[in-house]
Amino acid sequence: MPKTTRFHHLTIALVIALSLMFAGSAVSKANAAPKYSWKLAMTWPTNFPIFGDAVQKMADLVKVMSNGEMEIRIDSKNKHKAPLGILDMVKGGQYEMGHSASYYWKGKDVNLMFFTTMPFGMIAPEQYAWFYYGGGMELMEKAYSRHHVYSFPGGNTGNQMGGWFQKEIKSEADLKGLKMRIPGFAGEVLSKLGVVVTNIPAGELYTALERGNIDALEWVGPSLDLNMGFHKIAPYYYTGWHEPATELQFLVNQKKFDALPEYLQAIITTAMELSAYDMYSRSMNDSAVNWDLIQKDYPDIKIRTFPKEIIAKLKIENNKLLNEQAAKNPMFKEILDSQRSYMKKVRNWTKISDYAYLKDNISE
Ligand code: CA
Repeated sequence: MPKTTRFHHLTIALVIALSLMFAGSAVSKANAAPKYSWKLAMTWPTNFPIFGDAVQKMADLVKVMSNGEMEIRIDSKNKHKAPLGILDMVKGGQYEMGHSASYYWKGKDVNLMFFTTMPFGMIAPEQYAWFYYGGGMELMEKAYSRHHVYSFPGGNTGNQMGGWFQKEIKSEADLKGLKMRIPGFAGEVLSKLGVVVTNIPAGELYTALERGNIDALEWVGPSLDLNMGFHKIAPYYYTGWHEPATELQFLVNQKKFDALPEYLQAIITTAMELSAYDMYSRSMNDSAVNWDLIQKDYPDIKIRTFPKEIIAKLKIENNKLLNEQAAKNPMFKEILDSQRSYMKKVRNWTKISDYAYLKDNISE
């Protein structure tokens, strides 16, 4: 059985056992000197909501569940100054753990981008099913093994919005020469339709859009977009196609993880899984709350969906790019085939369950 899934099925039993243990021992305190002091480097800045909170929750769970035997110190990008260098730092052992997004290393190892989200790919419940029951965890462990790192789901943003646009996109001609900030594989797909794709650090996005250096950008969704203020300067908010289930990643140095006693391995695994799933619920809540606020304060914001012919073209280009890579990279092909065949199966169920329910019962 792969190392990253060993404790998955034990999770519920373990939590119950630990709860009983702590409930029965009122004097038990998580303040003994830790036997294991680990460090975690995250891509996000200090006090970054939702993403950073998921990391903190994981560390808190580890501390209390290990009865203080294990502590994880969290370093934000303000401290380590290498927001996109998390994989290297965990691989090299400067940090035992990391928290980031797998598609940031598309340029270093293209096979890793599959474990965040893919354009026109699975939605979050489908993707979690693929990770834990459809072979995803096994493939992620295999793909990451050349970096001597274990990777675990690290929290899902849910479906991301297609972005903020200054002008309405009515036809493919409107995309030609449009300057847009959009990272990852989706950027490559859009560039095939003539979009001039750039990647700009988060802190400079608002100014770039306000000054017209870019015509459009995508970030996340209302959960994190509200604080960025894009709704104050761009009137069109497009629905998504490019990141249907963005999953962040916890990374753990293989040697350090293997050297832990089994019960601490189980505790860390459980803490990561719980905090990841919690971030998914939190993202759903915060997007709902923040979208309500945006609508109240800026009732003129217009929700748009890309025209059908653009979506059809994007799908063709997406598949073409994926097939080209698969033809020259066996590991890429293995993951792509797994995701495609799993999605076909799981989507048949989604169609007659959640999709049918929403389609037939949705009311304004
Ligand atoms: Ca995004």
